[in-house]
Amino acid sequence: MKRIEEGGGDWVHLDIMDGVFVPNITFGPLMVSSLRHHSRLPFDTHLMIVQPEKYISSFADAGSDIITIHYEATVHAHRLLSQIREIGKKAGISIVPSTPAQMLAEILPELDLILVMTVNPGFGGQQLIPQTLRKVSQLAEMRRSGNHRYLIEVDGGINRETCKLALDAGADVLVAGSAVFDSENIGKEINALKCR
Ligand code: ZN
Repeated sequence: MKRIEEGGGDWVHLDIMDGVFVPNITFGPLMVSSLRHHSRLPFDTHLMIVQPEKYISSFADAGSDIITIHYEATVHAHRLLSQIREIGKKAGISIVPSTPAQMLAEILPELDLILVMTVNPGFGGQQLIPQTLRKVSQLAEMRRSGNHRYLIEVDGGINRETCKLALDAGADVLVAGSAVFDSENIGKEINALKCR
C-alpha cells in the first residue's frame, strides 16, 4: 500500500476472485478492511464472484469506494447497481472479453464506471486481447451520444505498450498489475503508464 501511494498510484484496484466465477481465489472483505488502514487512496473493488448481491454491503463496510460487479454474474444488474449507489458508493459494471458492449445499453445511466476486461479474468500476467479495445471505443461513443458520465476502465495486460492503445481507444482508468509490481521501481513504472 505504501509503495503504491509513494509511487503515485491514483487508486488501489482490488481483484476479488471466488474460484467459481473465475478459476482462482484471492481474498475477501476482511483483507480489504485490513488494507484500508494503510491507504487513503480510493479503493476500486472488482468483484469477480458469483452472487455479488450477497457481498456488496460487506465490501462497502470494509472500505471500498467503487464496487464493480460483473454483468455475467447476475441477472439483476440494474437492481444491484442501484443498491451500490444507495449505500453511497460508486457503482461499476465489468464485462469479460466475450460480452458485447451493447449488453450494457439499458443500464448506462446507472453507472459510474465500466470496466472492460482486456484479458479473460482469473490470472495476472496475461497479454491484452486487442479486440477488447474496440469495445472501449464503442463505450466512449455511447457515452458521447447518450451524454453519460461513466468512466471507462481497462484491466488486464496493461503495460507501457498497451496503455497507449487503451487511452487512444478512450479509456480513462488503467489497471496495471504485473507491469507495476514486477518492476524494480514502482514509481517510475506508474509514471510511464500515465503516458499522457
Ligand atoms: Zn480487476
